[in-house]
Amino acid sequence: MDFQIPEHIQQRAREARTWVEEVLDPLSADLEEKEIFPPALYEELKRGKFFGVTIPREYGGEGLPMTQWYPLLEEFSRGYAFVRMMAHCMNGLMWRAIYFFGKDDHKRELLPKMARGEIMVANCLTEPESGTGKDIDTQARKVGQKWIINGHKWLITVFPDLVPCFYIVFANTENGVTCFGVRDDNPGLKLAPMQKMMGTQGPRHFNILFKDCEVDEADILGVPGQGLRVAFDMLALSRVSIAACCVGVAQKMLDLCVPQAKHRHTFGKPLAKRQAIQWSLAEMATSINAGRGLYQKAAWLYEQNRPYDMEASMAKLFTEEMVVEVAEKALRMHGGFGYTKGTPVERFFRDCRSFHFEEGTAEIQKLVIARGLLK
Ligand SMILES: Cc1cc2nc3c(=O)[nH]c(=O)nc-3n(C[C@H](O)[C@H](O)[C@H](O)COP(=O)(O)OP(=O)(O)OC[C@H]3O[C@@H](n4cnc5c(N)ncnc54)[C@H](O)[C@@H]3O)c2cc1C
Repeated sequence: MDFQIPEHIQQRAREARTWVEEVLDPLSADLEEKEIFPPALYEELKRGKFFGVTIPREYGGEGLPMTQWYPLLEEFSRGYAFVRMMAHCMNGLMWRAIYFFGKDDHKRELLPKMARGEIMVANCLTEPESGTGKDIDTQARKVGQKWIINGHKWLITVFPDLVPCFYIVFANTENGVTCFGVRDDNPGLKLAPMQKMMGTQGPRHFNILFKDCEVDEADILGVPGQGLRVAFDMLALSRVSIAACCVGVAQKMLDLCVPQAKHRHTFGKPLAKRQAIQWSLAEMATSINAGRGLYQKAAWLYEQNRPYDMEASMAKLFTEEMVVEVAEKALRMHGGFGYTKGTPVERFFRDCRSFHFEEGTAEIQKLVIARGLLK
């Protein structure tokens, strides 16, 4: 396993950091307040190397391996959560469902558009009455050559108003869960707003209502009745991506703490002269590095075509807890001003809570790890 990041990726990581710090950061508080992402900024992302980084070259992407994408994802995680979430969803999660389980027509139509940032994809799994488990209430039944979907999904991350969206929908069918692709001009699909989130704003989270939503047989991803394979396949690697995001956010908070510790004086000395503060910084740095090591190992196993589910869950479990601990320390180190609205520490402190829920909670990661140990 090689920890060396190639020079061209390091260069791109530097460019991503500059863009986040110089372009995105000054706008973040205002964008969060208004829960928007300006179309001009989105166009800038489309022109830059933001979309399609990991999508295979045959479909217009760059085909970068995950181990090279994750250093870039860490950088995009250091800013406004919209960018982090979009980077993660578009490069680490959604295209894989279409590439591995979609029909040739889906791949030819959707993957090049995703690679150009011309379409977004939403993953519709969670429901009001059934959560983490596979007890899905949304139903699909076959009528002639069509499938009719009825049901209600919620908490679904969508990036509205910028580009069209393709919905990956999990529904119960006669022989198990089936995964469908639904286009956003389908009259049977409606979006209804949800309550505002505590953090991770910008991407919005919707109720998605399916009322006699008609789709073709050709719009099934994978095999009817085996939709959970699509979900599990998406989620395993996606957990590694979330771990990389957690590490990126935590590293950013540590990078804010170091100058704060050097410049803030109490009792006539900088905070950095106090051993308690030094220990706090040392603990943050150590746990961030441990998290990075965990996700790198899981990504490496994935690229070696070796089993990696347990390691992916370990990386997700460790880093979602690590980033919350780092956020707590960072908030304390920034004193009362860090608790005021609009400061990065205050925003990251709220944002990082959502990692617990994204791609399965800590309890679910423990379940996957324990299942692996006990099988
Ligand atoms: C910012 C954000 C974005 C999201 N985006 C999406 C999206 O795009 N698509 C989507 O489908 N969903 C999305 N979700 C929903 C998310 O996937 C769920 O919130 C998460 O999977 C947990 O499910 P739940 O909320 O139904 O909690 P529940 O399943 O009701 O669980 C509640 C609590 O019980 C625990 N628990 C559940 N089962 C067990 C068990 N067997 N043993 C021990 N403890 C258990 C859970 O860990 C959790 O702490 C998003 C959520 C957030 C916060």
